[in-house]
Amino acid sequence: MKAGMIGLGAMGLGMARNLEKAGFLTAVYNRTAAKTAEFKAAAFNKPEALAAEVDVVLICVSADRDVLDVVEAIALTIKPGSIVVDMSTISGETAQKAAACLAKKQVAFLDAPVSGGVEGAKNGTLAMMVGGDAETLEKARPVLEAMTARILHMGSTGSGQATKAVNQIMCAGINQAVTEALAFAQAQGLTMDKVIDVISGGASGNWFLQHRGLTMTQGDFTPGFKLALHHKDLKICLEMAARTGVSIPLADMTVSDYERLMAEGYGDEDISALYRLK
Ligand code: NAP
Repeated sequence: MKAGMIGLGAMGLGMARNLEKAGFLTAVYNRTAAKTAEFKAAAFNKPEALAAEVDVVLICVSADRDVLDVVEAIALTIKPGSIVVDMSTISGETAQKAAACLAKKQVAFLDAPVSGGVEGAKNGTLAMMVGGDAETLEKARPVLEAMTARILHMGSTGSGQATKAVNQIMCAGINQAVTEALAFAQAQGLTMDKVIDVISGGASGNWFLQHRGLTMTQGDFTPGFKLALHHKDLKICLEMAARTGVSIPLADMTVSDYERLMAEGYGDEDISALYRLK
């Protein structure tokens, strides 16, 4: 099965490297072409040129409009029977629009957002939550397994993104809790690497503390996961919550905090830059 990757950002790069190692990657595209240089796979200068040459198109770009732009472009050239898997984090509605656009070309679409950070993308240990046709997922599974440690079919188109929204709400709460607690620890004059080490082994241990705890207390906010991207996700979550009458105050507070940081020019920093406000 020939796979092509569109989007070689913080996440896409690691995923593409794992696809190449597993022998699936035959084509790459990135808007900024220089990022394709390291790959043996053919580099294309347009998404539609790539789509004509592969069986599975994998997408990992920033936001809803970017995914739709890519999907509308590849719909011009993609072969009937191909599969498109979008691993970006977007709304379920956008996933449905993308699926409808491709269905007109007899092309199946899976919304397949991932969790596990750039470390997960690099190490091939991502968790993937998939919406769309279950048989299509089985066809694409060998390719997806090259990038992931866990793949779950969540239901129809959009349910992968709905599950990812759950993850993003949780991620906001964890970010608030970890940044607040570590700012408290620093104010107590504790030795931060020891605090992080011992707490990571107990009931409050979590991925974010382990991977971003020490760097945030050292003032290093290199992404990782850009806070402007998490802001984009939480705006989607707030709209979803409003539609169902559910209150998500921690997500709401995190959106306001991120907006303050973005106004100060920190939107491209890691989400752990929330520490700046603590
Ligand atoms: P990133 O480092 O900012 O990379 C974004 C990628 O999208 C780049 O390759 C960029 O191309 C490309 N792109 C953006 N707009 C485009 C357009 N209109 N047409 C074509 N390409 C476009 O972001 P990332 O961290 O890899 O995140 C990618 C997606 O995964 C986002 O939806 C994010 O929410 C999600 N995600 C991120 C993480 C994480 O920890 N970082 C974890 C899970 C999911 P250029 O190189 O030209 O800018």
